[in-house]
Amino acid sequence: MKVQRKTLSLAEKLYLPAIFKGLKITLRHMFKKKATMQYPEEHWVVPEGYRGAPYLVRDQHGRTKCVSCQLCEFVCPPKAIKITPPGPQVNPNVGNVEKEPKEFEIDMLRCIFCGYCQEVCPEEAIFLMQDYSLTGESRKEMVYDKEKLLALGGVHNDPIEKWKRKEMEAREQGVG
Ligand code: SF4
Ligand code: SF4
Repeated sequence: MKVQRKTLSLAEKLYLPAIFKGLKITLRHMFKKKATMQYPEEHWVVPEGYRGAPYLVRDQHGRTKCVSCQLCEFVCPPKAIKITPPGPQVNPNVGNVEKEPKEFEIDMLRCIFCGYCQEVCPEEAIFLMQDYSLTGESRKEMVYDKEKLLALGGVHNDPIEKWKRKEMEAREQGVG
């Protein structure tokens, strides 16, 4: 069957209707509310409970809450956590109770922000915070060490204060 083609007017041959149609759409969008964000100067405000990067926290007495149990290291699906326990060295003030890790590293390039480490931690020592945009200039820079994780995590008030109790016990026994 032969296809009937409309004869184009001079304006249509010069694409004028199509150009005006396009300009009309552009003009309409020029006066609409802007949907783009000037990232990185502007950031999304994430909702309460958002699960971003995992950081270590200290209690209100400045103690590292992590006790090197390594549960988070074991459970982490992409194996992003590497913990070096303190070994036999103990803090004479609190005996062998406070096993603050010698080193604690999280490879943020591997971390998938799943939250398993936070869920499994018996000490409430690691929390997923609201940082979702982590950048660095090298792979090495993206491996956060203990000091960096603690600095980013800040203080988490511990209502139980078991360290204080252990400290008092140690003092009573004349260890401290
Ligand atoms: S959030 Fe998930 S992937 Fe990231 S360190 Fe914790 S357990 Fe591993
Ligand atoms: S962060 Fe929690 S789960 Fe991980 S080693 Fe420390 S105490 Fe254990």
